[in-house]
Amino acid sequence: MTSAAGPNATILEGVGQTVLVLSGKGGVGKSTVTVQLASALRAAGHSVGVLDIDLCGPSIPRMLGLEGRDVLTTPQSVISLAFFLDSKSDAVIWRGPKKNAMIKQLLTSIMWNVDYLIIDTPPGTSDEHISVMENLRSAAVLGAVVVTTPQMMAVGDVARELTFCRRTGINILGVLENMAGFVCPNCSECSNILATGGGEQLAVKAGVQFLGRVPIDPMLALCSEKGENYLVKCSSSPAAATFQALVTTL
Ligand code: ADP
Repeated sequence: MTSAAGPNATILEGVGQTVLVLSGKGGVGKSTVTVQLASALRAAGHSVGVLDIDLCGPSIPRMLGLEGRDVLTTPQSVISLAFFLDSKSDAVIWRGPKKNAMIKQLLTSIMWNVDYLIIDTPPGTSDEHISVMENLRSAAVLGAVVVTTPQMMAVGDVARELTFCRRTGINILGVLENMAGFVCPNCSECSNILATGGGEQLAVKAGVQFLGRVPIDPMLALCSEKGENYLVKCSSSPAAATFQALVTTL
């Protein structure tokens, strides 16, 4: 197995454990999982930092109620590449070397002082992923949570993601299936309106842990949109239960 850790790779200053959140494609809920995992870890008494290097769809600031802020006016434990853009359209003109230099700087020059650092990465396996691994000693990374939806197309993309982890020596914590079933806003019952189980089948086939199912919950979408704390507002929902259980697998 080859490792992408570069010769000058570092163990992050002041970070207990680093968790990468990956997905094969966009829109499957990677940023949602990042934010809810961070929130569940905080509720369990840990200090947590969030680093968002997804320039394709930097939704972390919005989900944490920090949209429109810049790097100087946000809490020190949340850093998004979006905070460094003059405008949203800047994202398309940042080329690989500029992104890589910024990721390197964020990883190596910030004193995080947290138990866990959760890194939200772009979909797929891009320059940003390689840059993260080149700048971190693999010993500094606890592992990757791979997010998929239950449908087979997303699952196929995830298989490629798992291969990337294996080739670059990233420990795979497991596969989390998001948008599996629908929680009715009236009766809170969960119905399987589309296929479910694809993520679990993939995890079994790939020999990695299945981390559970998160149903579609309109309240989760609403809280993410408004930057509200979903785990506090909807602590007894099935989706919240999966995020809370995720903490125990780290
Ligand atoms: P990604 O980071 O993979 O692009 P996001 O986390 O931004 O995906 O999610 C895409 C959209 O789907 C967002 O509007 C988010 O609020 C919504 N979403 C994600 N997961 C769920 C869920 N389980 N229930 C309801 N809405 C969800």
